[in-house]
Amino acid sequence: MEFTSVIDKKKNKQELTKEEITYAVSSYTNGEIPDYQMSSLLMAILLNGMTNEEVFNLTEVMMNSGDVLDLSRFGGMVVDKHSTGGIGDKTTIILGPILATLGCKVAKISGRGLGITGGTADKLESIKGYNISLSKDEFLNQVEDIGISLSYNIGNLAPADKKIYALRDVTATVDSIPLIASSIMSKKLASGADAIILDVKVGKGAFMKDVTEARKLASLMIDIGKHFGRKVKAILTNMDIPLGYNIGNRIEVQECIDVLSGKGEHNLTLISVALASHLLNMISNKPIGECQSLVLDSIASGKALEKFKELVKAQGGDYNSIFENDNITYTIRSKRSGYITDIDSEKVGLASMEIKVGRETKEDQIDYEAGIKFFKRINDYINEGEDLATIYYKEGASLEDAIKLLDEAVTISDSKVEEPKLIYEVME
Ligand code: URA
Repeated sequence: MEFTSVIDKKKNKQELTKEEITYAVSSYTNGEIPDYQMSSLLMAILLNGMTNEEVFNLTEVMMNSGDVLDLSRFGGMVVDKHSTGGIGDKTTIILGPILATLGCKVAKISGRGLGITGGTADKLESIKGYNISLSKDEFLNQVEDIGISLSYNIGNLAPADKKIYALRDVTATVDSIPLIASSIMSKKLASGADAIILDVKVGKGAFMKDVTEARKLASLMIDIGKHFGRKVKAILTNMDIPLGYNIGNRIEVQECIDVLSGKGEHNLTLISVALASHLLNMISNKPIGECQSLVLDSIASGKALEKFKELVKAQGGDYNSIFENDNITYTIRSKRSGYITDIDSEKVGLASMEIKVGRETKEDQIDYEAGIKFFKRINDYINEGEDLATIYYKEGASLEDAIKLLDEAVTISDSKVEEPKLIYEVME
């Protein structure tokens, strides 16, 4: 087969066969095809789209390019979650322990963050001693023993996607719904879960800026999951404002403990409970209302927090270290009195980058103790001179730039705004 004929076909808006897709992906992954030819095909896909059949085939070949975890020993009880990424998004660390107390098996492989959106692996690694790099056997045995492992890089999952995604990143071909959907789902399917919830973030701090595009992406990912026999739902959630009060790796884990203790910020608690309830509903077939009660009971009874402590211990982490922070602090005080009517998540994300919460390139070192803690949420009243947020930073961080961005991020007005919608819709 000639690679140029595959490019030509997509350029002319024709449907690629399974053989052509398999050939394109495998010959690029094994190094036979140069970057410039694959880039050309990716751009043709971005411009001309793909049919569902093409997307299923692309997903399948990328999924089978590496390890595919067999979790059948857990009897159909394995749950997984994917978030398209947001500011302050820490829900995995909350819903994982909850679901493990309710009979689900949480065999969760999480990624590191890049850019303004954080990664669960970084948040967990901010706990002193926590080993995110378990071997496959350690990972599976822990899930068997305590119902949960939150880890990083188990097996070699979807290496074809890894290589293609790196190329997309430098050829302006990331923002294609068929490519995003197949990329995400190839990894999710290879991770072996029975039920998957997709948290598709929408808004300023998210990949998807509007609900229509987010709905298209969610719908395609659901179709892919169902095609491969998985239970899948998607939830479209607001990312115009950060999720919760804390942004930064270790201080986000602190906030997860607040939620698991029943004292969490409203929106963060609401989304975490919704995600957990829908996963439980898919796995157990119990009505959603009953699942919600079970999730809330898991928190109220203290069982979810105990499970989190058990998880941290099992992976070698020091629970008490979560509350340590030796960084320098700077507290921003409000310049005026009024209601908080906006906290722009993108600007908050950029501010967090100035103090090394996240990495700009994969090689960057991050500061686990760095972060921004807000004391107010939307529609709270603040007095002039009252504490608005504290920044945790180290010498060498760009504090002034962070302050400026936070200043721009927060809007204070004389009257309240309509409470922003948090969950736009649930799709299945
Ligand atoms: N995240 C992924 O894993 N893949 C994409 O294509 C985009 C976001």
